Amino acid sequence: MAKQCTFNKQWLDFKLNPEFARWLDLVPENSSLPYCKVCLKSFNISNMGRQSVLSHANGPKHIKNAQSTCLQPTISLFAKSTRSEQCANEDKVTSAEIMWALEIVAVKMSLNSCDKSAFLFGRMFHYSKIAQSF
Ligand SMILES: [Zn+2]
Repeated sequence: MAKQCTFNKQWLDFKLNPEFARWLDLVPENSSLPYCKVCLKSFNISNMGRQSVLSHANGPKHIKNAQSTCLQPTISLFAKSTRSEQCANEDKVTSAEIMWALEIVAVKMSLNSCDKSAFLFGRMFHYSKIAQSF
């Protein structure tokens, strides 16, 4: 029986494998089925190892999913792309909005009393891109 290919932990190292490290993850229970954080599924590498990972990364579904989830590899690890920076800001705004929504529920404020909050936050924290986008 031929030897099966297994997950190489160096694939998770950003310096050694920047093309994989952002989206690939190890499944501890099965080292032949790595997990793709972009496609939210595992795929088999038992026959072709690294080539299977490359094949998955270049597949049309993975590329399409990566474009929509902001996990697409950047051109350089040392220079932020405009797209990933924009996604990071959107994540921060969403996080702030969720925290604010939870606070509203926790203190039982009415939605009418919070109606002008976004405007107020924008004025109070005029230097914050997050508050401006809230
Ligand atoms: Zn994928």
